[in-house]
Amino acid sequence: MRNRDEYDVCIIGSGAGGGMAAYQLTRAGARVVVLEAGGPWDNMSSDSAMLKWPYDTQRRGASTTERPFGEFDACIGGWEIAGEPYSRAEGTKFSWWRARMVGGRTNHWGRISLRFGPDDFRRGDLDGLSPNWPISYSDISPYYDQLDRLVGLFGSNEGVPNSPDGIFLPPPRPRAYELLVMNAAKKQNVTCIPGRLSVITKPLNGRAACHYCGQCNRGCAVNANFSSTNVLLAPAMQTGRLTLVTHAMAREVTLDAQGRANGVNYIDTKTGADSNVKARVVVLAASALESARLLLNSKSPKFPNGLANSSGEVGKDITDTTGTDVAGFIPRLVGRTIYNEDGAGGGHVYMPWWLDNSKLDFPRGYHIEVWGGLDQPGAGFMGGIQKYPNGGGWGARLKNDYRRYYGTTVGFSGRGEMIPNKGTYCEIDPTLKDKYGIPALKFHWEFTDYEYNQVRHMQQTFRGLVEAMGGEVFDSMPTKEQGYGIADGGTIIHELGGTKMGADPSTSVLNANCQAHDVPNLFVADGGPFVSQADKNPTWTIMALSWRTSDYITAQRKAGAL
Ligand SMILES: Cc1cc2nc3c(=O)[nH]c(=O)nc-3n(C[C@H](O)[C@H](O)[C@H](O)COP(=O)(O)OP(=O)(O)OC[C@H]3O[C@@H](n4cnc5c(N)ncnc54)[C@H](O)[C@@H]3O)c2cc1C
Ligand code: SF4
Repeated sequence: MRNRDEYDVCIIGSGAGGGMAAYQLTRAGARVVVLEAGGPWDNMSSDSAMLKWPYDTQRRGASTTERPFGEFDACIGGWEIAGEPYSRAEGTKFSWWRARMVGGRTNHWGRISLRFGPDDFRRGDLDGLSPNWPISYSDISPYYDQLDRLVGLFGSNEGVPNSPDGIFLPPPRPRAYELLVMNAAKKQNVTCIPGRLSVITKPLNGRAACHYCGQCNRGCAVNANFSSTNVLLAPAMQTGRLTLVTHAMAREVTLDAQGRANGVNYIDTKTGADSNVKARVVVLAASALESARLLLNSKSPKFPNGLANSSGEVGKDITDTTGTDVAGFIPRLVGRTIYNEDGAGGGHVYMPWWLDNSKLDFPRGYHIEVWGGLDQPGAGFMGGIQKYPNGGGWGARLKNDYRRYYGTTVGFSGRGEMIPNKGTYCEIDPTLKDKYGIPALKFHWEFTDYEYNQVRHMQQTFRGLVEAMGGEVFDSMPTKEQGYGIADGGTIIHELGGTKMGADPSTSVLNANCQAHDVPNLFVADGGPFVSQADKNPTWTIMALSWRTSDYITAQRKAGAL
């Protein structure tokens, strides 16, 4: 008999993966409860700081403890959250950015929305350094198409190998500095094409088009960029089948006598009280590493090493995108005609991976993000006027130098593929707990020469691009001892894996439908199921996979299997 207090599905987390699952499952008729550790947030209300001026606040937009990326940034969370610690093994350099709010990190993410390509799903066949995924591009491409139509993104069809085209809205024109970058890229034989951002440049599904204020990271008050809250959870709520419980920190997934998931224990973070919600299906979407933590903490006689962990693979094969940056001063941009080039909140151009690895000393690839321009200046902008030729002084001269040099910096950020390795994983710290008494994660992180050589190549390429623009790079080439400037693990905020998919239950946690091999009514819908990274940002794939998983849950429910 059906318990009236029991939901059809409980989803943990309301970010990219959880929002997508809530949208699709409620549309399919399921009664869904979403448990979200953070508080309410709505970009279409006063929560968004869009169009605020630094002088509107006493802090001038400078960062706060809860908002390390600045007071106007639309993410409550950060690298460290009071009372929610994590630990690092000796020698590990790793930082973990966590959001604690409805919509998760989609409130301030960069919106770069790239499909993984066919090769990214079959690396086992191509270089053998990580396994093939149990699905191929053709399994996920219909979901990318649906996502393009529902959420919307701009871009252009270019036919670049392994960087698939999509169903794009028109891209905005390149800004002045981006035109210089395009010329330099041509000289250096680097492919440079219009960016692909989930910002709508034409009205879509009742949402207004972008008005080019360049402030996407503050949360878009007109709903022209993608956030889970306003694009997915809002329509899910309109079905009348979604219950969103905020300030609900999931502690563990509970089981029935048969070892099937039957609900989630959580803590009301406002009162500290323990609660439980019952559900016939549980979907973890708390972000890749947090979902691994939940499974490792859900111990029972049947699963003494953590739920769905008979393979011992929960927490393993975690990765982040590799990254490094180079910026330079471009004299040609001094004294140019100034015009409003705020544009969409992100690059209007980017460079997908363009080289053949057989001629390189590292596997896989990277893409290049470009930055510069004349965004609204904030506290600490330009990072020190003394970097510019004869820059500095005081009074009128200082002000003039700021005017003269503002917008003359162009930067390049590499975003590349890390290969999973045995030295990089997370586990439950034997002693450390958070303020709710939930055991915390301990991280182990290693890069290998695959990543170091790739990052060295990024540095050389970016320096070549600045030179081709007639510019001067600000900093000297980082040495081998400095890891060629590689960003610490986690700091690119593309952490993936920890509950990977696979055909073999002894070497993977989930099957090809992101369903736990050990527990048929348990699913993961964040970055956890990823078998490997790619030279792309992950979120479009997280959402496409979550949509696919939700359709599978719906089909199984209809068949009476769940
Ligand atoms: C500054 C920044 C820029 C980025 N730019 C890009 C980009 O341009 N392109 C791209 O593809 N990706 C980008 N990313 C990464 C992107 O934000 C993530 O890949 C994506 O948000 C992951 O979705 P998720 O649903 O797994 O996690 P999240 O969006 O983080 O959502 C997880 C949610 O779960 C909640 N939660 C966690 N633990 C619990 C618990 N125990 N109980 C209940 N709730 C819980 C959290 O509060 C959070 O709301 C960026 C990230 C940041 C921070
Ligand atoms: S640039 Fe466009 S999408 Fe971004 S916040 Fe402004 S209006 Fe919204």
